[in-house]
Amino acid sequence: MADRNNIKNPEENNRRRIWGTYGGEVLAALVIIVLVVGVAFWVNKFFYGFENPQIAFTETPAQNKSEGSGKEKTGKTFKQSDDWRLILVNRDHPLEGDEDREFTELRHGQSVDSRIYPDLQAMFDEMREEGLSPLVVEGYRSNEEQKEKFESKIREYMGYGKTRDQARELALQWVAEPGTSEHETGMCVDISSDNGDNESANEVWKWLDSNCSRFGFIKRYPYDKSSITGLKGEPWHYRYVGAEAAEEIMKKGITLEEYLGAVPQGGT
Ligand SMILES: [Zn+2]
Repeated sequence: MADRNNIKNPEENNRRRIWGTYGGEVLAALVIIVLVVGVAFWVNKFFYGFENPQIAFTETPAQNKSEGSGKEKTGKTFKQSDDWRLILVNRDHPLEGDEDREFTELRHGQSVDSRIYPDLQAMFDEMREEGLSPLVVEGYRSNEEQKEKFESKIREYMGYGKTRDQARELALQWVAEPGTSEHETGMCVDISSDNGDNESANEVWKWLDSNCSRFGFIKRYPYDKSSITGLKGEPWHYRYVGAEAAEEIMKKGITLEEYLGAVPQGGT
């Protein structure tokens, strides 16, 4: 009886031997498969998907082409203002003309239109007096630089097997088409904190929200106005429009498009 209980089915013995001999390899193979799938998922997510730390300070269109054309024309009556401070540059209104402009270089190598520099400096002086450490991450970007930025994004996607047309569509999700970035005017700045942490940057943006208009700046792309501006919220992007317009825009919580009567049809 006891003996019979100890006798194992020969097939079971075989299975045990096989598992004993190859178990390690099978386990290793499974681990490798899991790792490969994991890395593939991460690469896909990083380069094609939702998160990309490198785009923290680029313009991000609010809608895909399929959701809204972005080529909708504004009211036929819209004309650019004669006031240089109120120039409108967005996906519907590319920067026109190549007038001579002067630029002032800032401490960290960025530059801005010289006409906005005194107010920008005054704003930064006051922030520093109040213990904040603001930093201009990006100011003026030439059309050439915008083209390079755009092309490099296209090449990045082509490097992952996309056709040029596909790569272009994907690049448009991260980089404004050359001619349509407000940075090409030299009248806006992306501001963060010199301390490099999120908390400090948030403090800077909070201060700017309450005080920027006194210096002629507006928060250009509020989160809740993306259907009008065409860009997702950008708490770091501040645009110079002069104190009078800035006070009204910030007080009413409107956009430059609304202020100028240039809301795209279909926008809300
Ligand atoms: Zn910006």
